[in-house]
Amino acid sequence: MANLGIPANTIDILQKYHFNFQKKFGQNFLIDTKVLERIIEASDISKDDCVLEIGPGIGTMTQYLAEKAGEVIAVEIDKALIPILEDTLKEYDNVTVINNDILKVDINKIVNEKNNGQPIKVVANLPYYITTPIIMGLFESHVPLKSITVMVQKEVADRMQVGPGTKDYGALSLAVQYYAKPEVVANVPPNCFIPRPNVGSAVIRLTRYEKPPVMAEDEHFMFSLIRASFNQRRKTLINGLLNAGLGLSKENIIHALESMQLSLTIRGEALTLEQFAKLSNLLKKE
Ligand code: SAM
Repeated sequence: MANLGIPANTIDILQKYHFNFQKKFGQNFLIDTKVLERIIEASDISKDDCVLEIGPGIGTMTQYLAEKAGEVIAVEIDKALIPILEDTLKEYDNVTVINNDILKVDINKIVNEKNNGQPIKVVANLPYYITTPIIMGLFESHVPLKSITVMVQKEVADRMQVGPGTKDYGALSLAVQYYAKPEVVANVPPNCFIPRPNVGSAVIRLTRYEKPPVMAEDEHFMFSLIRASFNQRRKTLINGLLNAGLGLSKENIIHALESMQLSLTIRGEALTLEQFAKLSNLLKKE
């Protein structure tokens, strides 16, 4: 099968199947072999790996993954792409295509069935409209995984990496940094896709920590505090937490902040991951 990373080959397939791009599915197909090679290199796949690809499109990256990995599972929502994938992936016997919405699929069940519950690697050129729920879903449902190597909107890649004191810092930064080590491996301009997206893109690799870098006694509670603080970014941390309906008393929050030697007018956006973990441990105790 011809390499679909070469633009002329992608255009041939799109014409052969009279494919119409669906904007609502965030369809921007990669047409740059250098970028594809960079993603494959960064994801560090071998024949020992089982890979989950989210949104294979016409199978461009799937072909590269199938060459390198032991097993590839590709979940694609658009049923118009299924006959195309049957054609473009027909030479590979190690690829399973599932026609479903990734947000509705039980990924843990797939990992159990396909990889005996052993950690998988996720590699994808993500549909940008659901980047955050996909990444958070993978982490929060504790899918066994080694790493996630994904193309995302440049701005989202920035958000995943930053710390307090920047405008991009938020719940996504803290969640990603609690579960994984983020590293941008490539910046990708719009002309590497068909059709061209109207934003810049970046490939980010998230390497899952075996143990989180901070100790939160109740991870779920810590993330409730984090979400509450950033939902009301302009409010003080005290007011943000009081308004969140978490059943916390003002007295207890003040007590916790004082014991951490933090100002009572501090905003949530000034706290580090370590401070959120400490705060959640203190408030849990109270
Ligand atoms: N992997 C292909 C490539 O690199 O050329 C396509 C990437 S394109 C940015 C995103 C893909 O995700 C599209 O094929 C789109 O149909 C698919 N997609 C969108 N929403 C999805 C969802 N909820 N579940 C599974 N796939 C989805």
